[in-house]
Amino acid sequence: MSQPVPMLDVNRQNDPLMAEIEAALADVIRTGTFINGPACRDFEEAFGAYVGAEHAVGCASGSDALLLPLMAENIGPGDEVLLPSFTFFATAGAVTRLGATPVFVDILPETFNIDLEDAARKITKATKAIIPVHLFGQSADMRGVMDLAAAHKLFVIEDACQAIGATASGIQVGAIGEYGAFSFYPTKNLGGFGDGGIVTCRDAEKAEVLRRLRNHGQHPRYYHHLVGLNSRLDSMQAAVLNVKLPYVTDWAEARGEHAARYTEEFSDRGVHGSLTLPHVTHGVSSVWNQYTVRVLGGQRDALQQALTAVGIGSAIYYPVPLHLQACFANLGYKRGDLVHTERAAEEVLSLPMFPEMTCEEQDRVIDAVSEFCRSGQTKATPATMPLIAPTTGANVDLPTRKAS
Ligand SMILES: *Cc1c(COP(=O)(O)O)cnc(C)c1O
Repeated sequence: MSQPVPMLDVNRQNDPLMAEIEAALADVIRTGTFINGPACRDFEEAFGAYVGAEHAVGCASGSDALLLPLMAENIGPGDEVLLPSFTFFATAGAVTRLGATPVFVDILPETFNIDLEDAARKITKATKAIIPVHLFGQSADMRGVMDLAAAHKLFVIEDACQAIGATASGIQVGAIGEYGAFSFYPTKNLGGFGDGGIVTCRDAEKAEVLRRLRNHGQHPRYYHHLVGLNSRLDSMQAAVLNVKLPYVTDWAEARGEHAARYTEEFSDRGVHGSLTLPHVTHGVSSVWNQYTVRVLGGQRDALQQALTAVGIGSAIYYPVPLHLQACFANLGYKRGDLVHTERAAEEVLSLPMFPEMTCEEQDRVIDAVSEFCRSGQTKATPATMPLIAPTTGANVDLPTRKAS
C-alpha cells in the first residue's frame, strides 16, 4: 500500500513557520503577560481588519464565540433561536445552555446551508435571533438572512467557525450580521495550537459588553454588573495566530484550487450517477474548510470503507442531525421533520482537504473514489433521483445575485 493520505496534516502548515512561531511564543514568555497581553490586542486588531469587522473580541473557543453574543443580547428562557440542524453541536449547545430554545431549520440540499423559507415558517413571537452557519466554508445566503432578520427584528449571529475569509456579495462573513463567531480549533482554516475563538461585532457598546462578559462580567476589576464567563484567548494562542493570519488568504486559495481539481477530475471521470459534487451558489464564495460530496444509492459507508482500506482519510460531518440528538429529545422532533438534513446526514462524505495536500495525494483520492464509483454503478440499487443538478464547479467570479 502506498503512503496514507490524511484528511488533514497540520504539521505541514506549521513546520515552515516554526522559527517565527517559536520567536513569537518566546516573546510572550519573556514579557510574562499570558492573559490579555499585547499579542492578544494585536491579534484582535489584525483579525477585525482582515474580516472587515469594526470590533473583534478574543475568547476561549468558537463555542464561546457563539455563547457570548447570545449572553450580550440577554437570550434566555422563553426565547427561541433559529439555526440549522445540520451543523456542529456547538451552534445549538450555546442556545440551550442559556435556557433558550433552539428551533431547528432544514437546509438547502445544494449547499447544506440554512433554508430561509423553512426558517421563515418557524418564526414566532418568541423568536429573537437567527444563527446562519457557513457550513464547510461556504457562506450562507446572507442577503436573505439579513432581509428576514430585518423583517422580524431578529439579531444575526453568523457561525463563521468554518469560513474565515468567505464572502457574500463581496463582504466577508462575520462582518455582515450583528455578530460573527470564529474558531481557531486546529482543524479550522486558521488553526491555533489548542482552543481559541473570536467574536466579531459591529457595535462598539456591544463589543464592550462582550469584553466584560468574557472576563466574568467585571468592570472595573472585582466589580460585577453582569455575570460572565472565564473565556479569554490566551496570549500564547494569540501569538501563534498572529504569525498564521497573514497566510490565511493563500491557504484558502490553495484549498480552492484543490476543490476545483476534485470537481473537474470527478466530472471528467463521470461520477455523477454515484456522487453529487459540492455546489457554490452565485454571489457567495467558499474557503473550502471541507470538500464534501454526497454518495448516492446508500453507498456512503461502503465508499468510506473502501477509502480506509487503501489508507485514504475521509470524515462524516455530521452523521446525526441535531434535531435527532438524544439530548434534544425533549424538544419533540422526530425523524422525517427535516428531510434534507436527514438525507444529508446519510449521504455526506468529506474528502482530504488541506492547503498543503500534494497533487499525487489528490490523484490517489480521485483514483480511489472514481474506481469505487465505476465498480459500484452496476451493483448499486438505482440511485435515488438526484435532488440536485450537477455542480457548475468551483466558485470563480460568479456574478452577484440581484437583490430580491
Ligand atoms: C468548530 C465549530 C464550532 C465550535 O468551535 P470550537 O472552537 O471547537 O468550540 C462551532 N460551530 C461550527 C460550525 C464549527 O465548525
